[in-house]
Amino acid sequence: MSSAPPVLEVRDLCLRFHTDQGTVEALDGVNLRVLPGEILGLVGESGCGKTATARAILGVVPAPPGEITGGRILFGGEDLLRLPERELARRIRGRAITLIPQDTLGALNPVFPLRTQLLDVLRWHPPEGDGGLWGLLRRYGRRWRRQALAQILALLRQVQLPDPEGALAKYPHEFSGGQRQRLLIAMALLPNPVLVIADEPTTALDVTIQAQILRLLRRLVKERGTSVLFITHDLGVVARLCDRVTVMYAGQEVETAPTAALFTRPAHPYTQQLLASLPDHRKEELEGIPGVVPSLIDPPRGCRFHTRCSQARPECALTRPPERLLAPGHTVRCHLY
Ligand code: SF4
Repeated sequence: MSSAPPVLEVRDLCLRFHTDQGTVEALDGVNLRVLPGEILGLVGESGCGKTATARAILGVVPAPPGEITGGRILFGGEDLLRLPERELARRIRGRAITLIPQDTLGALNPVFPLRTQLLDVLRWHPPEGDGGLWGLLRRYGRRWRRQALAQILALLRQVQLPDPEGALAKYPHEFSGGQRQRLLIAMALLPNPVLVIADEPTTALDVTIQAQILRLLRRLVKERGTSVLFITHDLGVVARLCDRVTVMYAGQEVETAPTAALFTRPAHPYTQQLLASLPDHRKEELEGIPGVVPSLIDPPRGCRFHTRCSQARPECALTRPPERLLAPGHTVRCHLY
């Protein structure tokens, strides 16, 4: 594991949403670290806080109803939670940290051809820095446009989009789902970001296209040394793609480990049950985790998994387990350790 300082460190992040039904305690002291050049998988069932974590990192939690009540998000030595929105929008979101979303059609503007949308990414988020008003004016010149288009075409070739020159004149609806996902990967990499957040980007694709996209993404980010926070509920995707994994349950992180260690020596009962739930053609019946993720309005105290855990002890309902180091890079939060 790299000993370099993490590019992103989330410490004790707490996020709540005030709704008509009550206060949703969406994140309760979440911790995670993304190291330089690594792909960190963030896994858990739907509703466990993966996307809320990503939104907090990107500074796009709507407030109200959202309210970050504690914690720090350290990126390049700065706490993003203390940066003014103007600075976040100018230097971080869309430039140093980019997003590959799940909804490929919704992420692209239906009324502009691809050329316009990709030029705009480089115009507003140039890798070399924005250069103020003069820089922006320069980026409307012919010479800049010629160079930018060459850069865009090179990246479209790298993401293996068929006929990149012809594609520039097309509109989003003229591409297949897999092609749009390649486009969004290109868009996310164009500003040469430090960190890419990929939010379930392959969920809507069939398995063969999914495998191609994952291979492509892994190759591109490893070549560039870009770090990735890859959000997914699919442990099969994690096994193929990620270097390390953080498992989340009901707004808390419960286990972090190198991918191989998590699959061979899962420590947290939730991780163990998630792995046992993976489809296996040798088993006659599909296994699942009994019960459902609890409501985060008035969530269970202590370890939030205690309402579904077959190994729960009395203290589990009282106190949140502290983080325990089991092996280098392998931590768990469970009173069994
Ligand atoms: Fe189960 Fe207790 Fe461990 Fe939570 S802390 S996973 S309830 S044993």
